Amino acid sequence: MKRTVGLAVLIGICGLFLMAGGVFAADLEIGCAIYKFDDTFMTGVRNAIAEAAKGKAKVDIVDSQNSQSTQNDRVDMFITKRMNALAINPVDRTAAGVIIDKAKAENIPVVFFNREPLPEDMQKWDKVYYVGARAEESGTMSGQIIVDFWKSHPEADKNGDGVLQYVMLKGEPGHQDAELRTEFSIKAVTDAGIKVEKLAEDTGLWDRVRGQEKMAAFLAAHGDKIEAVFGNNDDMALGAIEALKAAGYFSDGKFMPVVGVDATAPAIQALEDKTLLGTVLNDAVNQGVATFNLSYILAKGETPTEENSGYVISDGKYVWVPYRKVTLENVAEFK
Ligand code: BGC
Ligand code: CA
Repeated sequence: MKRTVGLAVLIGICGLFLMAGGVFAADLEIGCAIYKFDDTFMTGVRNAIAEAAKGKAKVDIVDSQNSQSTQNDRVDMFITKRMNALAINPVDRTAAGVIIDKAKAENIPVVFFNREPLPEDMQKWDKVYYVGARAEESGTMSGQIIVDFWKSHPEADKNGDGVLQYVMLKGEPGHQDAELRTEFSIKAVTDAGIKVEKLAEDTGLWDRVRGQEKMAAFLAAHGDKIEAVFGNNDDMALGAIEALKAAGYFSDGKFMPVVGVDATAPAIQALEDKTLLGTVLNDAVNQGVATFNLSYILAKGETPTEENSGYVISDGKYVWVPYRKVTLENVAEFK
């Protein structure tokens, strides 16, 4: 009798070990929601997350279809399924607080990425992290590309008034990257001592087709008065280039300096074709890898550090992936 009980206890203990072993190995599941799959830059980040997860954990990546309520439903589903961690690219970054409350109640850590939650939401719980890039930096770099061009090409001042007349294609209003790139790109120009005049600014919502439409409208209103085009991302800059081509630019010596941000593959191609003047690397691979690494470490019940994640963690919860300027001179490094 005693022996049977002893054996049963032993089997029970073994079972517990097996269960624990299971949780700490390949059974870990991370629920990941992207604001919308149909976004060029986020597709790069999404692929990097999937690649980094191989052989380590299962990442269930879902499309929020640019709807916060759809994303909230996905998050509820992840919580019901008892995911070990969440990796969330919010549709509306002010909605992060609600997601944090739900995840905290079930003790499921959350890593946000690309769309930065408000600081007060980030402070709601210690198991909340953010992976992104300093938007100001990308704004400054894209402005500097225009400055370098302006200073080395006196003919860029088409009307010779010593003032840079520009148009701005803004990303989604309220997105930290849209607001800060818009502000800091122009600040870089004025900081370089160049006077500016804004002819037009409108949002292209990060989208190539919308960028093209807005640029066509800018050209209809201002035509050859425009001396530079700032795009908050490459897709809108590439759309603008299409509209410029249709208006006769980039042939017969007619040029327009256009800058973007992201360094996507088609943007690199446009740089080499000498239509896009410059862009800024928004490092999708490192943002994806950092997002996965943090989620994975948290899913294992550990605390992310520079040693275990491979990324510096600032203020206990932020990973900032650096931007890099990309022009024709260094483009080979980004292919
Ligand atoms: C990228 C955009 C992208 C947006 C999505 C930005 O960081 O530069 O291309 O559309 O993130 O949130
Ligand atoms: Ca001018």
